[in-house]
Amino acid sequence: MKSKYQMSVPLVCKSCQSEDIYLSEDKRFARCNQCQKEYPGGYDELVRANKLRIDAEMKKMQAKVVKDAEKKVDDMLKKAFGGGKNFRF
Ligand SMILES: [Zn+2]
Repeated sequence: MKSKYQMSVPLVCKSCQSEDIYLSEDKRFARCNQCQKEYPGGYDELVRANKLRIDAEMKKMQAKVVKDAEKKVDDMLKKAFGGGKNFRF
């Protein structure tokens, strides 16, 4: 099952910010197709180079999860206490 909160942050070249990056099949080597910058550390190096952007996306997603959770509780309370014929104070 796919998570509703699945996140995808496009990895960009740290030199030219292009998303057009070649990644080898085993992810151990990457190269920017725009400026030809090479990433001998492959995928891991790209992730490190994009860490700030990934962190920012994580924060955004966490805020969304919290907001959704609040809304859910709100709906539940409304259902429990609002307009029910069998529930009175
Ligand atoms: Zn580049």
